[in-house]
Amino acid sequence: MEFSNILLSWYQTHKRDLPWRNTSNPYYIWVSEIILQQTRVQQGLAYYLRFIERFPSIELLAESKLDEVLKLWEGLGYYSRARNMHKAAQQIVHQYKGKFPNTYSSLLKLNGVGDYTASAIASFAFNESVPVIDGNVYRVIGRYLGISYDINSVKGKTKYKEAASELMDSKNAAQYNQAIMEFGALQCVPKNPNCDVCPLNGSCYSAIKQTVEEFPVKRNKVKITQRFFYFFVVSCEETFVLHQRKANDIWNNLYQFPLIEVSKKESIENIVDQFTRNRDVDAFELLGVSKEVKHVLSHQHIFARFIRIELNEIPGLKANEVSVSRAKMKEYSLPRIITRYLEQNDI
Ligand code: SF4
Repeated sequence: MEFSNILLSWYQTHKRDLPWRNTSNPYYIWVSEIILQQTRVQQGLAYYLRFIERFPSIELLAESKLDEVLKLWEGLGYYSRARNMHKAAQQIVHQYKGKFPNTYSSLLKLNGVGDYTASAIASFAFNESVPVIDGNVYRVIGRYLGISYDINSVKGKTKYKEAASELMDSKNAAQYNQAIMEFGALQCVPKNPNCDVCPLNGSCYSAIKQTVEEFPVKRNKVKITQRFFYFFVVSCEETFVLHQRKANDIWNNLYQFPLIEVSKKESIENIVDQFTRNRDVDAFELLGVSKEVKHVLSHQHIFARFIRIELNEIPGLKANEVSVSRAKMKEYSLPRIITRYLEQNDI
């Protein structure tokens, strides 16, 4: 039996029953694919169900306020995904009269849709014969064929795309692509796959040569930046200050406590001094300082501390700041680091 037949037969027995697998509606498939990028299925499932319940059609998503979309996305991270979806929904409604583009090349024109998402929608919803290559597929193909090219290099990506196109069942693109992704997620897993029970073990390069841990080849390690955040949880009675992030940076459009970011750790005394001078604050009460919290993002490690300050009056608000009661704070879209602080601290 050839590669694709084996995968399809394995898929029939092992596939998980997930709501986006029982539909060919491109809108639902798109939502699921965007949510599942960088997110595990179990976590993504709850978000998907909430999202589809609130925005059952692309028109409703296009009409909504971005803040509401970001609020639903809260905790998922990579917020640019939500902003791009919101923009692309408006693009589909206004430029395409609500008709979802139905080919790989037309899908690529949508805001925030790249090769992976376009391939997934084109094949899952319209059965177009284009291979979908995510991390799971890189692993399966890299190991199966013993591809020695780095998956992060341009040449490597081309080689993988060629290999994936040759291996796929072009008449059955929707099922085949889902099968190979699921196979990578459940059978050919990153660490210690059980090759003894794998239906591909008779023809798999890595199983035969016992080189499973060597594939897929990844040479370019992602460079991690360290950032140091000091959040000021400033209150006057029950009113707090939130700042909406606007720079082209992480958490764009989300709200946080006013922040001082520095390039290396600083003493709390220096940071508080900087904050009170910037804001012309004469009298304040320092209510507490949190321990350092490490927040890990894909390319950044953030080391944050929260400094709790009570004032006699809320200082003059700066650009993009709002004063908000404690009770109303949860209505704003907040990055996970802020919601976690609120959950763990009685402020
Ligand atoms: S034999 Fe092992 S390495 Fe090869 S495809 Fe199966 S699980 Fe992956």
